[in-house]
Amino acid sequence: MGEAGSRGSPARRCSVCGAPAVVYVPYARAAFCPRHFVEFVDRKVGRVLRRMGALRPSGLVVAAVSGGKDSVAMLASLVKHAREAGTRVIGVFIELGLGGYSSGSRRAAEEACGRLGVPCVVVSVEEVVGASVPELARRARRPVCSVCGVVKRWILNAIAVELGADYVALGHNGDDVLAYAVKGFLNQDHASLSKLGPATPSIPGLAVGRLRPLYEVFERETLVYSLVEGLPFLHEECPYRPRQPLEHGIKDALNRLEESHPGLKISALRRLEKAVPLYERLAREEAGGEWEAKPCRVCGLISAGGECSFCRLTRRALGEPAGARAREAIRGLLRSKGLLEGGGEA
Ligand code: SF4
Ligand code: ZN
Ligand code: ZN
Repeated sequence: MGEAGSRGSPARRCSVCGAPAVVYVPYARAAFCPRHFVEFVDRKVGRVLRRMGALRPSGLVVAAVSGGKDSVAMLASLVKHAREAGTRVIGVFIELGLGGYSSGSRRAAEEACGRLGVPCVVVSVEEVVGASVPELARRARRPVCSVCGVVKRWILNAIAVELGADYVALGHNGDDVLAYAVKGFLNQDHASLSKLGPATPSIPGLAVGRLRPLYEVFERETLVYSLVEGLPFLHEECPYRPRQPLEHGIKDALNRLEESHPGLKISALRRLEKAVPLYERLAREEAGGEWEAKPCRVCGLISAGGECSFCRLTRRALGEPAGARAREAIRGLLRSKGLLEGGGEA
């Protein structure tokens, strides 16, 4: 099973306590029993969180919980560290309107949040924006996944800005980051590469920084972690997922290389993190000097000037930009949950 896998034969013993191992991690040259594997992953998450200074007493992290294995593993490990640091965590599930897949994901996300003692804010795109993601895509004549990405990013940022959060935590794992990095390299897209560190900075009032607690945790490790921890997650894949996404091919190729060169992926991630400032410089130069984020003239959140991509997208799909209206709906939702002043359950 690759990094966390089948080479853990029944004869193998946990490198920490000597109990029967369930997992062998070649790049760490260690085998683990369930308990010590969980600790191994939690330590990696903790190191990233500390390096980024992500947790502070009375701080707040908004966690994107899609109901998949990565997001629930991220949430479980994040919550452990956040409790120790005195940081609050709020889970957000975005109901995209993808039929049975969305309802299954929602059940898993709510159950995971409930089990971990984290409030779960469910945001329906249809209610907040006025149309589901596939409907927006159809009306805007854009691919569903690209619309989905714009909508999810905007909603998470809008919630985090309203709540004054320190970070939005995402379930991207090390394999996702490396796949984006190879894609960014192939396209020589320095702006994308510059956003591939474990965290991006916040821009006050406009954008809350994004955090990747699973930066050094690989896809198969998040699966084993979720299974060992008994976390609920949806095994199904989104029906709109492209058949052969480039990222998939890149991940397969890197996994094959990792088998013959254990440690290749983890060192690539560490080098990538160090190279982020260089990519930032290149991206700024290519943009003709300082790139300054400006408030969108409709919703007030981050844009490159004029309207943000969410307001442009909704203008195209619905005839008018939905940013201001959607922000108001989000405020109402947060108030009704007692998470914002001015009303609610609390
Ligand atoms: Fe959204 Fe596409 Fe991912 Fe489905 S596969 S959740 S439509 S980005
Ligand atoms: Zn052990
Ligand atoms: Zn906008």
